[in-house]
Amino acid sequence: MTLTTDQRTLFRQFRDYRWESVASQPYKEDGAAPFKTIARQVLFADAQLDCELRYFEIAAEGYSTLERHEHMHAVMILRGHGECLVGEDVRSVKSFDLVTIPSWTWHQFRATGGEALGFLCMVNAQRDRPQLPNEQDLAALMANPVTAAFLAD
Ligand code: MN
Repeated sequence: MTLTTDQRTLFRQFRDYRWESVASQPYKEDGAAPFKTIARQVLFADAQLDCELRYFEIAAEGYSTLERHEHMHAVMILRGHGECLVGEDVRSVKSFDLVTIPSWTWHQFRATGGEALGFLCMVNAQRDRPQLPNEQDLAALMANPVTAAFLAD
């Protein structure tokens, strides 16, 4: 979803966690990966930048796909609070916290705070497809009490 310079809109007003003329899309088009109640808005996707800034919003009790990939994510929580798993760490997150997801690191965000969890996510424009955990990967995550407790919620 790359815009040419001619199509570029220079100003977009914010209101109620929507940005003017930005479509709110389903989180993943193919529906193959497990996730729950997430919407996605692509805020910046200019060919000159070679990256994209997206806003994801997970409804209360929802969660993102547990996945890993070569590309990394730079995340800023904008709205609400919840929990995230990054590798073997589970952390509480709230508005304006920053989360770095390195290459090939399992990650998942959960809106466990009884309200929506919204975050900005910066990512490479060209990126590899996410990998889902196989049985062995899940067994390893479940063998660690910290990640097991997070995934059991
Ligand atoms: Mn990811």
